[in-house]
Amino acid sequence: MVSRVIPVDPFDLVIFGGTGDLARRKILPGLYRRFCSGQMPPEARVIGAARADHDDQGYRDFVRDSILEFTPDGRDEDGLERFLEHLHYVAIDATGDGGWEKLAELVRDDVVKAFYFSVGPSLFGALAERLYAHGLADRDSRIVVEKPFGRDLATARDLNATLAEHFDETQIYRIDHYLGKETVQNLMAVRFANVLFEPLWNSQYVDHIQITVAETVGVGGRGAYYDKAGAMRDMVQNHLMQLLCLIAMEPPARFSPDSVRDEKLKVIRALDPVEPHHIVRGQYDGAEGKNSYREDAENPRSLTESFLAMKINVSNWRWAGTPFYLRTGKRLKARTSEIAVIFKDAPHSIFGSEAGTHRNILTIRLQPNEGITLGVTIKEPGQGGMRLVDVPLDMSFADALGPDAEDPPEAYERLIMDVIRGDQTLFMRGDEVEAAWAWTDPIIEGWTTRGEAPKLYDSGSAGPEDAQMLMHRAGRRWREIKV
Ligand code: NAD
Repeated sequence: MVSRVIPVDPFDLVIFGGTGDLARRKILPGLYRRFCSGQMPPEARVIGAARADHDDQGYRDFVRDSILEFTPDGRDEDGLERFLEHLHYVAIDATGDGGWEKLAELVRDDVVKAFYFSVGPSLFGALAERLYAHGLADRDSRIVVEKPFGRDLATARDLNATLAEHFDETQIYRIDHYLGKETVQNLMAVRFANVLFEPLWNSQYVDHIQITVAETVGVGGRGAYYDKAGAMRDMVQNHLMQLLCLIAMEPPARFSPDSVRDEKLKVIRALDPVEPHHIVRGQYDGAEGKNSYREDAENPRSLTESFLAMKINVSNWRWAGTPFYLRTGKRLKARTSEIAVIFKDAPHSIFGSEAGTHRNILTIRLQPNEGITLGVTIKEPGQGGMRLVDVPLDMSFADALGPDAEDPPEAYERLIMDVIRGDQTLFMRGDEVEAAWAWTDPIIEGWTTRGEAPKLYDSGSAGPEDAQMLMHRAGRRWREIKV
């Protein structure tokens, strides 16, 4: 089975912040891969726009270096040179007049026009304003907006209102790269294209759900930004919340942007406020040769969390009584992201107590090794009576698609192609983002009012001991954080 690549329409994609870290590591290497796969048509152009002073050739050299650095395998020298011919550059000042006339002349009217705001959020308003002033914000243009989308409900509302002055909601693509992962979309296929899972997908059969996004790195050079955000704003309000929505949502009437996003919004609105004793906040301690969080953040009195574990109740008919446990943190044991749906025990074991307890677990791995595994219980092969053993039924993409299949596109490249196609299904709508902040804000306010300090945890551990207790109190335990 070989996946088909359908070229998108010709486009001009302007990357504001085209010399920044995100453009170098993700956006440009992603576009290069889409070019090599044949999805980017010959008429397409990518226009870098940033403060640095490049001409087209200078920018092409800069992008060549980035691609060689961040696409170590699968390089195609000839393909790379042909890709670079599609690149242009305009030195621009987002907050001034410099470069805008040149950009307006360069961008074509008869192709899809997309503007990627890969700059700090304080510039989003200025960019929207200037795109409009220079006639680039017509009905067909699209803007792609990076995270963070606000830092609370008030700032997210302001940002939505600012963008809405010049762009309709159908033109705004708020990116959350977790939604672009192959497995996340496969989760929807597994749920809604099979009769097998949906009847069991509720509190009658599911004991609880665990969503873990664990990193081994600390905050590194992002300390100053991170210290004002913390795990709640940086990870939970967006990425983990989106994953929770996809697991918990009702089947949409169709796989169309507003049907899917309506259902996700209903989930966010059904989230109960979280009791303080259902949340554990942590901060990583120093280890030999490694800074503590407070040293990394250069804030010796910081109360910001680099770890968060929480128990969340979704108050609706489907999920009442089935908690969702979320956990994310830095400097943990392993770099892994997974969702685990832990089903209830069989109501009665005909095999007696010696057979032990066995549970079906559906694991959706986002990284590393994207894939879905269903743990089923079978008889241990061979003689020796009816001994039961849990085995994984692995739905790995590499195996299913065969050796000739193209690697699935990475999240960013898939999402950029969706922008060009005009498909907003995997992008967050303004009301979704606001609803997520409306749920998050009181939790953060509670910490601030109570002056709560996060618990210290060892680097390389699974987080503070209290996070284990959060589960133990309910007779459950976290899945091991491992690759
Ligand atoms: P960066 O600091 O590396 O790059 C910023 C870019 O913006 C540069 O190209 C710079 O020239 C340009 N720029 C800054 N001020 C400008 C101005 N006044 N006019 C025109 N251009 C200007 O930042 P980054 O890490 O690439 O992040 C960009 C955005 O993406 C941010 O909103 C960030 O939060 C978000 N983001 C980044 C990552 C990542 O991995 N780097 C991940 C998720 C989201």
